[in-house]
Amino acid sequence: MLEYETHKKVQIGYIANLISLGCCLALQLITVSDLLNSQIYLYMILAIVYGVLLVFPLKRFAAYDISTFFLTVSLLVYFYISTPNFMAVVLFYLYAVQIGLTFERKYSLAGAMVIAVIFFVASIDQIEIDKKNMTWIIMHSLLIINVNVLAQHLSQLEHQALYQNEKVKQLLSQMENSYKTVSALAEKDELTTLYNYRSFRNKLEELVPYNIAILLLDVDYFKIFNDSYGHLCGDAVLRDMATVLKGSLREGDMVFRYGGEEFAVIIQCSNETEVQTTAVRISNNVERHPFYFGKESALHVTVSIGYAIGKEGIETTEELFKIADEALYNAKESGRNLIGCPNGQICNPTTSPLYHVS
Ligand code: GH3
Ligand code: MG
Ligand code: MG
Repeated sequence: MLEYETHKKVQIGYIANLISLGCCLALQLITVSDLLNSQIYLYMILAIVYGVLLVFPLKRFAAYDISTFFLTVSLLVYFYISTPNFMAVVLFYLYAVQIGLTFERKYSLAGAMVIAVIFFVASIDQIEIDKKNMTWIIMHSLLIINVNVLAQHLSQLEHQALYQNEKVKQLLSQMENSYKTVSALAEKDELTTLYNYRSFRNKLEELVPYNIAILLLDVDYFKIFNDSYGHLCGDAVLRDMATVLKGSLREGDMVFRYGGEEFAVIIQCSNETEVQTTAVRISNNVERHPFYFGKESALHVTVSIGYAIGKEGIETTEELFKIADEALYNAKESGRNLIGCPNGQICNPTTSPLYHVS
């Protein structure tokens, strides 16, 4: 917003200068004939440059080069001018307005004033001055000031634009990193680094209940485990459990920490034997895995599992989830360290013909 306003000021400054030049030109046409030829070109050049700056005010002009150019041209114009007129008063007023609009830094104004005074003194020595062309001299000194001020504004704008650009880039990359971190945190479980409950629910919403199966796992008697060995030991078991589960699945299968000591697995398969084999494999791997914590000798835990398979008659993944949940409940009720099947049957992983340890 600030940049826009400053930019607007610069534009107004150029318009004021353009009007001033137009007036100078008109003045020359009306009053002077002998000096006309040489001056008319200078005015035209100035008018064209201002016109270009008006149309493309920020198209990468090197502001101080323009300033130098204007100083030189203005100096030339300044030495040629000799005919005052009432229009000079109007021009003087326009310059004053423009300086008011464009100027912000008093030290720069002081510097520009010094330059103007130097030109002024130099001109007294070199040309014959009467009261009338004195007005012209002052006016053109002010023109120099104006050009300097405009050049400074342009430079400031260029710097501001570059600086802001850099800042925006930095902020964007910071935001991108923060977003990635937050997204990762929102999807993952801190303790086990598995995908969390939220990811599981999102995944369920994405999927259709065909060609997939859901397995729900719950660690048996984990409360007693915690009470016996402490929560830190329980945490270590849950962390280790994540590794055992991942190691028991095939590529493409997904495992989530669903709740406290509950896990969920989604597998891309609707063949009952294959699904049951996976459940048995998980169950056996967990049972056989030695969990170590501190000086404790190897500890063991078991899991109960309930599974459901997507097939005809099941409309949503939510229904699929409910079937798996009921199957898990049956497995718990039937004594734990068991696998609950969707048809209500219970499979014992230890004696199962699918018995498997990997
Ligand atoms: P069940 O065989 O019926 O599943 O019995 P359970 O004791 O495993 O089940 P219950 O629901 O009674 O207790 C679950 C326990 O899991 C209680 C809680 O302390 C423990 N638990 C849940 N989240 C964590 C965790 O992040 N770390 C630890 N150490 N324990 C946890
Ligand atoms: Mg539980
Ligand atoms: Mg439990």
